[in-house]
Amino acid sequence: MLYDVIILGAGPAGLSAALYAGRACLKTLLIEKAMPGGQITLTSDIENYPGQLLEGESGFTLTERMNQQADKFGVEHIYDEITAVDFAGAEKVLTGVSGEYRARAVIIATGAHPRPIGCENEAAFTGRGISYCATCDGAFFRDLPVYVVGGGDSAVEEAIYLTRFAREVTIIHRREKLRAVKGIQEKAFANGKIRFLWNTVVERVDGDTALSEMTLRNVVNGETTLIRADEADGLFGLFGFVGYAPNSALFEGKLEMEHGYIITDEDMRTSIPGVFAAGDVRKKSLRQVITAAADGAIAAMQAARLLEE
Ligand code: NAP
Repeated sequence: MLYDVIILGAGPAGLSAALYAGRACLKTLLIEKAMPGGQITLTSDIENYPGQLLEGESGFTLTERMNQQADKFGVEHIYDEITAVDFAGAEKVLTGVSGEYRARAVIIATGAHPRPIGCENEAAFTGRGISYCATCDGAFFRDLPVYVVGGGDSAVEEAIYLTRFAREVTIIHRREKLRAVKGIQEKAFANGKIRFLWNTVVERVDGDTALSEMTLRNVVNGETTLIRADEADGLFGLFGFVGYAPNSALFEGKLEMEHGYIITDEDMRTSIPGVFAAGDVRKKSLRQVITAAADGAIAAMQAARLLEE
């Protein structure tokens, strides 16, 4: 089966592209590796998507509606993991674990993934005290101490969210000034459950079965501090929000990229005709739901124009 357009990734960029492509009557296939919604499903509260005023809107609920909306326009959805791509011919070929897919145009909306904190032993305690998703795992740490690494919007917003569950939330930041926007910072400074450890990084994590020890290092004076879970608690939580890396390994050497981000023009065209990129996977200055959605719409409309030509 030859599709007009195949969209890779069902986050806000992919879902918006699907909506626009479906509505433009293109035969559209949306391929998602795991769960639709993308990274934004990890976000607890959405406040800055225009028109979104629903109390308690999460990334999950917002993208669920986006998904339903794409369905309305006849977009075909499948789950598969694409392992190889061939963009050389007019017919683009995507090979997945479960099959081969062909289209005249491809929109890459594969997004990004959380970067690891970078401490010793991190992998051993991921899912055993270390998490990168407050919405998914916050409730496991009810009445326990929780540490959050990072100083950007994600770290500070998710730290505020985690105060719903945790006894106390400590933000560990490698500098003495947050990167998060002022409004978010002010909310955190006003929250009595949040404290800060400045100029500090996590060096190593330890424990028996769950995370119960970690070594912190002050980057100014080099001093190290050992944090141990209270005996009664037995463990504590550690959430990493130190930025994201693009999901673009599959396209290395096939498309022009910079630091792993796909380079596009303002119409989302990559270096290969018929291949577009949208959302967090492309080189851009602002990675938000609104810019991902806009990218997706532009990519789909440009794909439609190309196919007409
Ligand atoms: P980010 O803005 O890149 O911030 C990453 C934070 O982690 C920075 O404070 C950085 O420290 C720190 N960091 C990086 N590498 C580290 C390491 N190896 N060890 C310790 N700390 C490290 O990432 P983000 O907060 O996830 O945000 C990503 C994008 O999404 C941004 O554009 C952000 O504005 C956007 N976002 C927006 C909202 C919203 O609008 N409500 C919410 C979430 C995210 P330095 O400050 O020292 O560099």
